[in-house]
Amino acid sequence: MEALRLDGNAAAGLLSEVFAGEVTTAVGTCDSCGAVEAVGAIHVYMAAGTVLRCPHCEAVVMKVVTDGERIWMDLRGLRTLELAS
Ligand SMILES: [Zn+2]
Repeated sequence: MEALRLDGNAAAGLLSEVFAGEVTTAVGTCDSCGAVEAVGAIHVYMAAGTVLRCPHCEAVVMKVVTDGERIWMDLRGLRTLELAS
């Protein structure tokens, strides 16, 4: 089956649904150790940005930085993030 390739605008509706939902009950999988945990159970460290660390291995799973107008998110430490639709 050949995939249909579109630009990012085609995913705008889906992404707005993902990021408008309740995130604390979302379940993330740590890319470092494979632990599965609700976002609300992840350890949070406040510094120049917000750093979320796995409660099992302390690997960084998420970094969030904002300047008040825009938000940058680094999700490289998450293997998956499961949200209720
Ligand atoms: Zn981990």
